[in-house]
Amino acid sequence: MYTEDDFIMISALQHYIFCPRQCGLIHVDDVWQDNLFTVRGEILHEKVDTDTYETRGDVKTVRGLRIHSYKYGLVGRCDVVEFKNTLNGKEVFPVEFKAGQPKEDMSDKVQLCAQVLCLEEMLNTHISKAAFFYGKIRRRNIVIIDEELRKQTITVIQSVREIVDNKKIPKAEYSAKCGNCSLINICQPKAMNKRRLQNYIKELYSV
Ligand code: SF4
Repeated sequence: MYTEDDFIMISALQHYIFCPRQCGLIHVDDVWQDNLFTVRGEILHEKVDTDTYETRGDVKTVRGLRIHSYKYGLVGRCDVVEFKNTLNGKEVFPVEFKAGQPKEDMSDKVQLCAQVLCLEEMLNTHISKAAFFYGKIRRRNIVIIDEELRKQTITVIQSVREIVDNKKIPKAEYSAKCGNCSLINICQPKAMNKRRLQNYIKELYSV
């Protein structure tokens, strides 16, 4: 069990999947820089994260619910959680809002699954599905929270822990995704690669 001092933000998991170095820069070095993608996401979340709730029929909708897990050492916030009364008890259904469209990598699904792990611990329940609402296509996509996704999420949590607990920021690896990274000017991945190459050549001829 972790204490609140050890909690890591759920967003760190997405940052790790995008790039382990980005995760280290943000969650160890406290570096942040906005770009078009981060601003778009923030605008959408400002509209959703209002700390309110409403009840329609048998569904209570809570917005901006703060969540945590002592088991996994996580803290974060759900955009929307729907609580529905069913014959089998209360059904808990988180919905995460995204500005764009479904991503090819697992980062969004891992974020959603981490929210589920927190809600299950807090509410002592089991959640089998959740959803994304994508702003661009204006549609809900259901995600099944199966064993495979749970395992992947726990593996990512452990990898993030290694970076954050050891305060060790991974080295830059320049790739196509650097062009979409808000930290490119701080990270300078091309310069890092060049420096590494220079060191390698220096080592090669120093014998
Ligand atoms: S610029 Fe590239 S290597 Fe650096 S943090 Fe961003 S994605 Fe990672």
